[in-house]
Amino acid sequence: MQLVCLDLEGVLVPEIWIEFAERTGIAELRRTTRDEPDYDQLMRYRLDLLKQHELGLPDIQKVIASMGPLPGAKEFLDALRRDYQVIILSDTFYEFAMPLMIQLGMPTLFCHRLETDAAGFVAAYHLRLPNQKQEAVKRFKELNFRVIAAGDSYNDTAMLAEAHAGILFHPPQNVIAEFPQFPVALSYDALRNEIDRAAARVGDV
Ligand SMILES: [Mg+2]
Repeated sequence: MQLVCLDLEGVLVPEIWIEFAERTGIAELRRTTRDEPDYDQLMRYRLDLLKQHELGLPDIQKVIASMGPLPGAKEFLDALRRDYQVIILSDTFYEFAMPLMIQLGMPTLFCHRLETDAAGFVAAYHLRLPNQKQEAVKRFKELNFRVIAAGDSYNDTAMLAEAHAGILFHPPQNVIAEFPQFPVALSYDALRNEIDRAAARVGDV
């Protein structure tokens, strides 16, 4: 059986924090791991900002719902799910992703979770385990799946390398340069082509 593992942000939906910063006008939320490499520091900073701006989870979810998936993402995913088992592996949080997953027809998503306090503010975050994208692919291989993985950025490269075949979708130039072993797709048609080619190459078990 062949399994396709897809990254979420930048592949099927916008970068949630960046787009959220645009839509709310809270420019400080544009800060990413490139600016603050300590993920825990970055998340505390983000959660503090949300609270300062009195944005509870329902407010946040309303903004995220209005983003919608990327154009063509739903059609691409629907067609892919007819021919492959598909699992989305993401470092986002269920509570953030859910408004977008509903619009994508509720595909299977493995990600992290948030904790809210009694007032509805996001109080803490819980990572299910470190390096979950790569770890998940490793486990799927142990379950005898042939795994094809696609993602758009640096945090996907371990998953891509772990899979039987890895594909970059709309990656930044530095990732293309650093990981020339992965084919690059710039549209959903091209991504689907690369997935089908990889499927033929890796075969089945
Ligand atoms: Mg991504």
